[in-house]
Amino acid sequence: MTTATRERDAVQVPMVPNFIGGYASVPESDRSVWIRNPGTGLPIAQLCLSAPADLDVAVRGAVEAQRAWALIAVKDRIQVLFRLKALMEGRLEPLAQVIHEENGKTVAEAKGSILRGIECIEFATSLPQLMVGPALEVSRGVECKMVRYPLGVVAGITPFNFPMMVPLWMAPLAIACGNAFILKPSEQTPLGGVELAKLFAEAGLPAGIFSVVHGDRVIVEAICDHPDIQAVGFVGSTKVARAVHARATAAHKRVRALGGAKNHLIVVPDADPELTVQNIVASVTGCAGQRCMAGSVLLAVGDIEPILDRIKATLAALVPGQDFGPVISSAARDRIAGYNERATANGAKVTVDGRKAKRVGDPAGYYIGASVIEAPHADHEAVCDEIFGPTLTIVRCETLSEALTIENASPYGNAAAVYTTSGLVAQYVSERASAGMVGVNIGVPVPREPFPFGGWNDSTFGGGDLTGEPGIDFWTKMKKITTKWSDEHRSNWMS
Ligand code: NAD
Repeated sequence: MTTATRERDAVQVPMVPNFIGGYASVPESDRSVWIRNPGTGLPIAQLCLSAPADLDVAVRGAVEAQRAWALIAVKDRIQVLFRLKALMEGRLEPLAQVIHEENGKTVAEAKGSILRGIECIEFATSLPQLMVGPALEVSRGVECKMVRYPLGVVAGITPFNFPMMVPLWMAPLAIACGNAFILKPSEQTPLGGVELAKLFAEAGLPAGIFSVVHGDRVIVEAICDHPDIQAVGFVGSTKVARAVHARATAAHKRVRALGGAKNHLIVVPDADPELTVQNIVASVTGCAGQRCMAGSVLLAVGDIEPILDRIKATLAALVPGQDFGPVISSAARDRIAGYNERATANGAKVTVDGRKAKRVGDPAGYYIGASVIEAPHADHEAVCDEIFGPTLTIVRCETLSEALTIENASPYGNAAAVYTTSGLVAQYVSERASAGMVGVNIGVPVPREPFPFGGWNDSTFGGGDLTGEPGIDFWTKMKKITTKWSDEHRSNWMS
């Protein structure tokens, strides 16, 4: 194993390899970053950032491998996925440990995210049943049928917050459809992708069908520009999603880029207090608030003070390091704390201050407690920005219409939720929320397969969906084949 020496205590840590053509190899590069355990701040690995030439080698191998892979019947291709699923289920504990160490999620959260990724593998194993194309005798003796073909080599670019789950949104389905898949993981959390490459190989996937090329913006741009990559799935912040969509589209690729979020939770006076409090607290603090589905702004309609008091008390009692993990980096922790620092000057009140939370764990870890910022108006930065930490911003509204106006005005549109015991209110909000995923009494309304995952507005760029049944359309192209066999063709217009 190639290793590097950690600066603080001269401990040897592994170098993170790329996986290209079935081989693990550390790219030669004078640009590298430390991968730190957010719970301790200590480096656990070193990552050399690949160059476009490394991507080029991966793509060439993938083009070659994909030609043979596409000739294998889908029923046989998915056998690899059955083995992958069994391997991952058998190794849930050690895999969760890897995600816990590189990302900071609790082990329970890491396991949950891997299980969710396994659901995507399960879905892809149903492809033989799902990709049956239509056929029709369009004229006497003339048949038309639609047949799906893989695109060729496709790529996935993924964020730090779900190092294994987000790659699994894309890779199993794309691969089962007959493509070769190149993963560019986040350079902050590259180890989940490395584990996936090892698992795919052990499951019997031919070399070159799943490759990992680590890197930063340089590799992302090289992916967007590469003439032999046919489609790009991106998941990350809105700024980068927009740029990736524009660049890859200009290179005539199929692109679906999922971006950032600012999710609104609308609470009305008839909401069930127990359910609402527990659910909102979990939505805000799960994975330390670093989820694109996390509840972020609570729109309090009318007098719901008893519910707000209970939410604040519950959040104030949570212990970072015990109830949820650290955030990804010291920069992220300082950015989150910055909203509390500036709140008073901006006319807001910090009624739960995560900077002062009692915490457990290594003092050098990137922990910050849950916060509540009560904003004076809907234009406040804590209402508008994606904070991406365990912070809940509260805005008081007199009416449901006012709450919906605020929700609708957000440039994002990933998720929204309403807490109510009224079917009428639930339907009213579901119909009017400007978000691609809506929850009724659910603060993290993640659609599960066969439904696709994805938001609206600045939370998504490009057409199609990466996951679920519509994901099959994204990762394939259709051929329309018209055939005339019978003698009867002599009598119709096609002859
Ligand atoms: P990010 O946008 O910084 O990084 C995502 C990927 O883009 C990484 O692989 C990174 O290497 C690359 N990248 C970063 N800067 C780049 C640049 N300037 N040019 C080209 N590539 C670049 O996102 P992140 O911080 O890793 O993840 C958190 C963000 O992802 C949040 O905004 C969150 O809401 C979003 N997210 C969205 C979804 C969704 O489904 N909509 C899911 C998970 C995370």
